[in-house]
Amino acid sequence: MKADQEEKFKKILTEEEKIVLNELKNIAVQNSSNLKDWIPKIDLNSDGPAGEGEDAMQTTNYQKRIGLVAELETRYNNIKKALENINNGTYGICLLCGKKIELDRLNANPAAKTCKEHVDKEVDDI
Ligand SMILES: [Zn+2]
Repeated sequence: MKADQEEKFKKILTEEEKIVLNELKNIAVQNSSNLKDWIPKIDLNSDGPAGEGEDAMQTTNYQKRIGLVAELETRYNNIKKALENINNGTYGICLLCGKKIELDRLNANPAAKTCKEHVDKEVDDI
């Protein structure tokens, strides 16, 4: 990949990293023993755990939050990984086949880890 393209993606990823991190901090707490893990806050309006008065609405909100945190967590980790790859010169290479990831795919998702052919096989732990 050309240096100016890489520089462009680095800027986008750095910006997105900040945004996703802010969103995560609003609704979750980072696990200090595993920095890739985020624990959803029980109640956004108080610092303590949910009490007996917790109603169904709150439970529903919490369940939604768990899903959202998982989504943001994956995005955040993918962005970090992509930035790491830019720094060590392996950015834009499909982790499954080693081919270059198509530019339009990276334009749509700069944190993509696989080429178009392997888009369905993209999993968390590769
Ligand atoms: Zn591939």
